[in-house]
Amino acid sequence: MLHLSREDAKGILKSHGLRSTTPRLAVIQILASADRPLSHSDVVKLIKDTDCDPATIFRNLIKLKDAGLAPVVSRVDGIDRYSFNSGQGEENAVHQHPHFACDDCGQVTCLPPMSAPMELDEPWSKAISQATIQFRGQCPQCI
Ligand SMILES: [Zn+2]
Ligand SMILES: [Zn+2]
Repeated sequence: MLHLSREDAKGILKSHGLRSTTPRLAVIQILASADRPLSHSDVVKLIKDTDCDPATIFRNLIKLKDAGLAPVVSRVDGIDRYSFNSGQGEENAVHQHPHFACDDCGQVTCLPPMSAPMELDEPWSKAISQATIQFRGQCPQCI
């Protein structure tokens, strides 16, 4: 979670060869300020700007994902959730921590990193370069 000014967002888009359109700036700022991965419908709800219709927001999410700025860090029941990654190596950007998906409200929450790595034998121990761990259940608000 970080505050990304409009000017910073413009600079990041420019350095990735993307034009700074109003919807694109809004999407990237919302992803950057979120404390959890956001789905397309989350972003639609958070963007108050009525100039940004859902289809435009979707196209921009895909564009940002393709540019490496909005990787999909969670996928639950076929719903992709995006985060912001400036490519400048902020620790949380790649979301290499477990996520919790609530079966009731559908919210996906970032959990703290787990200290104990998974213990696997070869060849799987060598095969894994990245772990995506997702828990499911009822979140504390829904219990
Ligand atoms: Zn819940
Ligand atoms: Zn996360």
